[in-house]
Amino acid sequence: GRCVVAVDGPSGSGKSTVSRRLAAGLGARYLDTGAMYRAITWAVLRSGVDPADAESVAKVAGEVDLRIGTDPAGYGVTVDGHGVDADIRGPEVTGAVSAVAAVPAVRALLVGRQRDMITTAGRIVVEGRDIGSVVAPDADLKVYLTASEAARAARRSAEDAVDVAATAADLARRDRLDSTRKADPLQQSTDAVVLDTTALGIDEVVTRLRELLTE
Ligand code: C5P
Repeated sequence: GRCVVAVDGPSGSGKSTVSRRLAAGLGARYLDTGAMYRAITWAVLRSGVDPADAESVAKVAGEVDLRIGTDPAGYGVTVDGHGVDADIRGPEVTGAVSAVAAVPAVRALLVGRQRDMITTAGRIVVEGRDIGSVVAPDADLKVYLTASEAARAARRSAEDAVDVAATAADLARRDRLDSTRKADPLQQSTDAVVLDTTALGIDEVVTRLRELLTE
């Protein structure tokens, strides 16, 4: 049957790893909505548009052909036929994505696409910042993952192979932008189960979520 799991939280909270494993274990699809905002940002930078110019950003977003897979074992993201999986994790995109994600027209476009993909999939784990609150408010399970700033920076810097101090500064900057933007700011939805993953392993978090699903 239908099963939609919404996993929200800041970067480095363990969202991506946990969501992918949960989806694989459930035999469900997986959608990384952050990758969609990153792909639009890649297109904006490639077109030479200033990420702060909301009108031009919205125009680029409306014109690009963005495709994303939903296989938890490995999904590909393409923009106008270019494979962008590696580039969207790079510092240029990471530095500009919060500005692009703050443009209401970009959010409206991507939220619509995300809802269509959820309807098509039926069984899916969706991760992001606004899934439980905006994209899928009727999800079967909503979780909000948190972790201490130190744990989040350590995880991200291990993933990206960059310095912990630089990662911590970048995370703090992105958190501030993401949680203070006018359109759908990152907020802990009041009806989500909050899990602090600072002292938990990935398997423990996944097990806890599976328990919550069967309760
Ligand atoms: O999760 P990830 O770090 O890849 O997300 C990149 C950025 O995309 C976030 O910093 C945020 O600005 C934006 N985002 C968003 N809404 C989502 C997912 C990501 O605004 N649902």
